[in-house]
Amino acid sequence: MYTTFNSWLAERVIDIKENNLYRELNVMNSWPKPKVDMNGKKKIVFSSNNYLGLATDERLINAAESTGRKFGVGSSGSRLTTGNSSWHEKLEDRIASFKQTEASLLFSSGYLANVGVLSSLPESEDIILSDELNHASIIDGCRLSKAKTIIYKHVDLQDLENKLKETKIYDRRFIVTDSVFSMDGNIAPLDKIIALAKAYHAYVIVDDAHGTGILGENGRGACEYFGVKPDVVIGTLSKAIGTEGGFVAGSYILQDFLINQARTFIFQTAIPPSVCAASYEAINIIEVDQRMRESLMLKVNIIRNRLQALGYKVKGNKTPIIPVIIGEAKKALWFSNKLKEHDIFAPAIRPPTVKEGESRIRLTVTAEHSYDDIDRLIQAFETIRKEQEVTK
Ligand SMILES: *Cc1c(COP(=O)(O)O)cnc(C)c1O
Repeated sequence: MYTTFNSWLAERVIDIKENNLYRELNVMNSWPKPKVDMNGKKKIVFSSNNYLGLATDERLINAAESTGRKFGVGSSGSRLTTGNSSWHEKLEDRIASFKQTEASLLFSSGYLANVGVLSSLPESEDIILSDELNHASIIDGCRLSKAKTIIYKHVDLQDLENKLKETKIYDRRFIVTDSVFSMDGNIAPLDKIIALAKAYHAYVIVDDAHGTGILGENGRGACEYFGVKPDVVIGTLSKAIGTEGGFVAGSYILQDFLINQARTFIFQTAIPPSVCAASYEAINIIEVDQRMRESLMLKVNIIRNRLQALGYKVKGNKTPIIPVIIGEAKKALWFSNKLKEHDIFAPAIRPPTVKEGESRIRLTVTAEHSYDDIDRLIQAFETIRKEQEVTK
């Protein structure tokens, strides 16, 4: 039956609302600090990826400003035409030395880096083995790949090994995994995954979006934490580094290949040089300033322990992502709205982002949260818990 375009869409949106999966935008009218002006109201935010507070760091702002004055606000083209500035090259060299790889290649986002790598690297006769909780950008990259994708159970080494055995006849298998799972906050056992890959002659691609700047002695990420060297490391500048953009780190030949084959690199306008300059500054800071990470992890542990003491089911470990399992989507949404009444913003994460029945409040902590912010968060969780018990 024919309906008008807009009424057809309206029906679909009603459907989303009925399933408690409706999403809305919030308007921020202040810097990305823990205390923000959101939709005209003061809120304490526990959902930022600006883990180290670098997004508002004076040193980064100065770098972006002075480079913006010299190079302009846009890059004017793709890297292969006119968009490649000396700052892009300088940042790529810096990322490579930070990640301790031969080379790196910038993309406009981590999303596009994942899609670019996975759609170009594996060939049609290859197999991709992907963790079931990998980020959406990995899933989309696998969908665009000509290789066949096999999903293995979340961080399940036995299942991964079985699947490596089952696919022995293939010349090339690629294991792809998040280093830190974005909705669960746990760390993939990269040491064991890479040992398995070696034993079965598979290649390893690691998405270190949430590990970069956070894990390891010098904040180099999950590979430093485990002391491993996967074939391909993907990362983003948009989390701990505090700016925007994505990257792939690995060998010179990998960089050369991606420049020639990754469509999300070739057909994309380069990020602005000012963003490269700010990112460069951020990496310099991250590499030497251990205190930021220590202060962050201290706060993470306090929140984890106090929520657990209140009886909440908390997932993850050793990362600033703290998922609090609530259950049904509707209940998680209710919980998130309750937190708002306490002037706290933390989103309800619902299907399809997480499994049915595992909806959650996803908290993230930053080095900039004060102990008072943390007290207010815990008090809110305590009050809401009591309210829940009364209404049960
Ligand atoms: C955030 C994230 C990305 C995407 O990075 P952007 O730079 O925001 O596009 C990719 N992978 C994982 C695991 C992420 O958490």
